[in-house]
Amino acid sequence: MKVGLDVGGTKAEAVVVNGDGGIIARVRLATGWGGEEIVRTVVAAVHAVAADAGAGLDAISSVGIGIPGQVDPGTGRVSHAVNLGVDELDLAAEVAPALGVTVRVENDVKAAAVGAYALRGTAHGLDLRHGSMAYLNLGTGVAAGIVVDGEVWRGAHGTAGEVGHVSVDPAGPLCRCGQHGCVEALAGGGAVAQRWGRPGRFPVLDVFDAADAGDETARELRAGIARGVAAAVRILVLTADVDVVVLGGGLTALGDRLLADVTAELVASAEASPFMRSLRLEERVELLPPGSPAAALGAAIIGAAHDPRPEEALTHG
Ligand SMILES: [Zn+2]
Repeated sequence: MKVGLDVGGTKAEAVVVNGDGGIIARVRLATGWGGEEIVRTVVAAVHAVAADAGAGLDAISSVGIGIPGQVDPGTGRVSHAVNLGVDELDLAAEVAPALGVTVRVENDVKAAAVGAYALRGTAHGLDLRHGSMAYLNLGTGVAAGIVVDGEVWRGAHGTAGEVGHVSVDPAGPLCRCGQHGCVEALAGGGAVAQRWGRPGRFPVLDVFDAADAGDETARELRAGIARGVAAAVRILVLTADVDVVVLGGGLTALGDRLLADVTAELVASAEASPFMRSLRLEERVELLPPGSPAAALGAAIIGAAHDPRPEEALTHG
């Protein structure tokens, strides 16, 4: 049994995955604030999900953790996880002694990319060893993870897929990174909420509703979201030629309303170009099914990926 965790700003989700890749247990816990609380939450979540699977810690062969921020997967160190109150945290080293197994850590969007790839491949009966996908996470910020033949493509410094900070409109709104017209400045939930500037629990939903009701500011913001997401899809396909771009994250709660905007923008922006039309981008965008535990599943897969099996240790030993 392998365990995967998705540690977010408000909750941590843990899953147990069996040998066939199926999820046999799933729990959610509230996430504490700061490094010590994150460590405590991770250990508690692993205990809880093992109990949910009717097993003890000794039945767990590996643990993988997806977490926001910069992650060094070699050391399991996390830095700049601002939403968790973490500046620097040696996460793998802190939790491994309490769990007694190998612990691997990866950025949450990259983990979600691996999980989304596995979920989609299983649902379509695909061979997971061959194929490519980009997972575009539309949350407070915008970032993507690229998966090739089942493995996340990190690039030289882990920056591969950071499409949120590609500027697609030099005259566009100022981004928190200092550039103008980044994908994230147009389509990030945080940037949209800030420019909308009205109170509400789900500002992007409010923007969509107000746009439908004819509000001019909302229509501009909503058109910007479609432009930003469509630009990210173009960038991902034109640089990595992935088979498909799967959209996930909080904004995808808008479902087909969001997807329809994005596909319409992709069709409209390709109209003048036979080359862009030939790529059929509008047919290569999908939504992650709502409620999918993509990041936790991906973390479980990553956690087990380099776990030397006992027989392998024997062979080499
Ligand atoms: Zn930016």
